[in-house]
Amino acid sequence: MSDQPRCRAHNKDGGPCGAMPQTHTPFCQWHDPERVEERAEWNRKGGKATSTEAKARRTLKAGVLTAEDLRARLGVVFVDVIEGRTEPAVGTATATIARALLDVARVADVEEQVAQIRRDMAAFAERRGAAG
Ligand SMILES: [Zn+2]
Repeated sequence: MSDQPRCRAHNKDGGPCGAMPQTHTPFCQWHDPERVEERAEWNRKGGKATSTEAKARRTLKAGVLTAEDLRARLGVVFVDVIEGRTEPAVGTATATIARALLDVARVADVEEQVAQIRRDMAAFAERRGAAG
């Protein structure tokens, strides 16, 4: 596995990308300079359906990707699988990982809501105590 080719680009944190390069370029699909427009298009499409609440929740609690990143990347993988540039198994694995990330985000959301309910109940109890 260690002698497998890796994408030549670097991530935002400066570390090596580590993703599999595409067959025609030393870059993975996220770093391919030729696909800048394609990725921007996916980001635009992904960014349209937003409300204030969606914006607040956009950053997945998993912390690695934003929901928009995830949507854009899934879109690219989807098109690549359909057009035969990516193995269907990669698409399946990507979808599985995306679902796991969303599950983690959902759990974090529920925990946040429970904490808020506890705060509300404590505030209510305090007000009742003050009134009585
Ligand atoms: Zn890369």
